[in-house]
Amino acid sequence: MDCVFCAIINGEIPSSKVYEDDTIVAFKDLSPQAPVHILVIPKQHIKWGYDVTPENSAVVAHIFETIPKIAKEQGLDNGYRVVNNCGESAGQSVLHLHFHLLGGRDFTWPPG
Ligand code: AMP
Ligand code: ZN
Repeated sequence: MDCVFCAIINGEIPSSKVYEDDTIVAFKDLSPQAPVHILVIPKQHIKWGYDVTPENSAVVAHIFETIPKIAKEQGLDNGYRVVNNCGESAGQSVLHLHFHLLGGRDFTWPPG
């Protein structure tokens, strides 16, 4: 399978990892949109949000349990934003489920 995030998980292409355990990994986004911009992904290849099910959602819960720890480590004491782009309209460009952890600046609402 030709998946850039699976290649990062397998160590085939480099990344700046900030967190890793048995089921998830977090690394810096190559094209940061905020002073802190980290991608948190399951090691299991799940294509996108549409494919989250009762069978695999434990890893999504684990991601959301881990994000606050990463945010604190990154010094995001004044809040942060978590984004999941799912599908074409949302602008998903990598078809491996990922959550953007963004912080270090103020964000507008609604998003663009
Ligand atoms: P999305 O547009 O929501 O699918 O987000 C994909 C993100 O992956 C973008 O913010 C890219 O900058 C980022 N990205 C793509 N390739 C890499 C890579 N090799 N290492 C780190 N981030 C990447
Ligand atoms: Zn993948």
